[in-house]
Amino acid sequence: MKYIFVTGGVVSSLGKGLAAASIGTLLEHRGLRVLMQKFDPYLNVDPGTMSPYQHGEVYVLDDGAETDLDLGHYERFTSGILSRMNNLTSGQVFDAVIRKERKGEYLGKTVQFIPHVTDEIKSRIHQVSEDNPLVDVLITEIGGTVGDMEGLLFLEALRQFSLEVGRENVCFIHVTLLPYIKAAGEAKTKPTQQSVAKLREIGIQPDILICRTETDLDEDNRRKIAMFCNVDRRNVVAFRDVAHTIYECPLDLRRDKIDRLVVDRIGLGDSPSPALEDWESFVQKIIHPKHRTTIAVVGKYIELQDAYKSIYESLIHAGARHDTKVNIIRVEAEAIEDHGADTVIGVVDGILVPGGFGDRGTEGKILAAKYAREEKIPFFGICLGMQIATIEFARNACGLEGANSTEFDKSTPHPVICLQEEQKGVADMGATMRLGSCESILFSGTRASDLYEGASRIHERHRHRYEFNSDYQERLQEAGLVISSVSAKEGLVEIIEIPDHPFFLAAQFHPEFQSKPNKPHPLFSGFVEAALHHAEAEVASPA
Ligand code: GLN
Repeated sequence: MKYIFVTGGVVSSLGKGLAAASIGTLLEHRGLRVLMQKFDPYLNVDPGTMSPYQHGEVYVLDDGAETDLDLGHYERFTSGILSRMNNLTSGQVFDAVIRKERKGEYLGKTVQFIPHVTDEIKSRIHQVSEDNPLVDVLITEIGGTVGDMEGLLFLEALRQFSLEVGRENVCFIHVTLLPYIKAAGEAKTKPTQQSVAKLREIGIQPDILICRTETDLDEDNRRKIAMFCNVDRRNVVAFRDVAHTIYECPLDLRRDKIDRLVVDRIGLGDSPSPALEDWESFVQKIIHPKHRTTIAVVGKYIELQDAYKSIYESLIHAGARHDTKVNIIRVEAEAIEDHGADTVIGVVDGILVPGGFGDRGTEGKILAAKYAREEKIPFFGICLGMQIATIEFARNACGLEGANSTEFDKSTPHPVICLQEEQKGVADMGATMRLGSCESILFSGTRASDLYEGASRIHERHRHRYEFNSDYQERLQEAGLVISSVSAKEGLVEIIEIPDHPFFLAAQFHPEFQSKPNKPHPLFSGFVEAALHHAEAEVASPA
């Protein structure tokens, strides 16, 4: 196996994850089998207990691992299905070392950062390699910025690792920033030089530099960086700000032949750069859509770009499938509580209520679901969004006054959403929800079954604690709610829908974790299609 390690320098938020994922895309298009992983130097065991304000979205894998959102990019940009082995944090590393120490596995020794902690990090890379013998190249992104104290042990482990497996099998890629100084009218290379110097101090000489730049990388700067950073001029690659969509990133990096440089460096064949027709046509559909539609996402972390990342991406994938630009309006749920749904949301073609925790903004979301149901605006609820739709239906279509989830109101007279018995005694907050892929049964004759093209069983990823209360199932069904899917094992409600409506569907799972650029998730695809019809109907008969 060959190894690519991607580090970052100068500042965070450089798009290091996207750069790593894009390299994955390009190498896969060369016919190589690629696997991606992320090392995060923070001390949390996983990001599952972090607030979206700290961390953005928590991305959930098939096996239930709660991971960094970069793993979402990896799964969208490459075909690999990832597991908990593909996201390692300092928290996990220290946890493993201390457990071993207590078990007596280091008996007689002083347990030290080097070699015991670095060995633990290296063992994870070896483990992933052993578990995936068919993979040609493992791409590992190291979170944080070179120079941070936190990341030092990871970098030291990589330095040692590269010597052990042979430097010729390893490609170090460093992503840096060329800040553009307007007054001087030029992009500056000094921060890049200094960041590479830091890396070399640790004993790592990068093979390729990816320079994030607002403008372009001129020949002078390319030479300067090459000389001061001790790399070949061709190995200084520009990573420009993309104009329209992050899916342009692989195309941009290919301009400087990054895939060629990588395969040359680690000896992975010498074929010419392949065509990326499927990817290019997907990007073209995003850039030049024929239609337009507007969807309101009603949430709690709405001002945060990254909090609903996979949902926004899934809407883009579904939009491309229908040749449609999805214009997303981010609506703060609490504002609806103050000013009403019609004022705050206004005229839109679809309303989406995403997942969430805690009761802030839930009443606003309930009003949004009511507005969608009554005004016949396409509605899509995800996880908490399904719970919200259930509460709204119970209160306003079924007459169950005060219906709620016990997450928000412990003494509600109608707990239509509640905890399952096995969740009641749970005290730990980390990794104790219903997590990961579960099988569900789809009932034929429903909208959901049509969208999944008649499939009778589906597998979707979960991340929640509360459930639809089966004691209320019959009453809600009598009032017109359709249950279109239940979990195969426990019979828990997975999808609800309202038939006499252009599109009113909500799922207890997270479809956004399985949507891919050229393979939009069927529920997102159906929702965007319904929104598009709504937009067309509006044009045909403006109010
Ligand atoms: N807070 C809800 C629960 O725990 C929904 C979680 C979510 O939307 N991911 O069940």
